[in-house]
Amino acid sequence: MAVSKTQPWQAVAQAAAAGQQDFGENYVQEGVDKIARLSAHRAALRWHLIGPLQSNKTREVAEHFDWVHSVDRLKIAQRLSDQRPAHLAPLQVCLQVNISGEASKAGVAPADVLALARAVHALPRVALRGLMSIPEPAQDEPARRAPHRALRELRDALQQAEPGLRLDVLSMGMSDDLEAAIAEGATMVRVGTAIFGRRNHAAAQA
Ligand SMILES: *Cc1c(COP(=O)(O)O)cnc(C)c1O
Repeated sequence: MAVSKTQPWQAVAQAAAAGQQDFGENYVQEGVDKIARLSAHRAALRWHLIGPLQSNKTREVAEHFDWVHSVDRLKIAQRLSDQRPAHLAPLQVCLQVNISGEASKAGVAPADVLALARAVHALPRVALRGLMSIPEPAQDEPARRAPHRALRELRDALQQAEPGLRLDVLSMGMSDDLEAAIAEGATMVRVGTAIFGRRNHAAAQA
């Protein structure tokens, strides 16, 4: 997935013309704007929300995006399911897990993932697909691999506990740790800087 947050829509158009089909956005309004700009390509593209999602933004997401990777509580998933338009395919979702156990970080605690997964799986208009994490940056390869391995093992444990769940996606790895993530079984890496170059945050928040 090419993470296009803060990049101008023209950069996304260029990547799409080169064949890139999956794009990740962090901010709902910025993503919705780009989806509209690139509407001529809509059928060929998949738009992923990877940033934090608040209740008051779920409708826009349900109406415009294809995937949400940052679901970490049931209330958000319920709203997305309720608000997903009937003419669209179910919204594909990953549960964001706080795999490094940082107090300040978003994500469901590993011990609570199974209960959340069961509840999300039961919702009619979202399709649970797997787990996502954003580990803290690490200095060396073993330290980079450890949280990715932990997420894969958690997925495997959930799958064993609940064979009816479809957990084929491990959304893990960014520009600085994508090799480690792939080595540990990532099926989707979220790469921004290494594709588009450095971000200009000031421009994007406007
Ligand atoms: C920004 C972001 C990325 C991409 O980060 P890079 O280091 O630029 O590759 C991936 N995942 C999430 C959740 C992000 O917010």
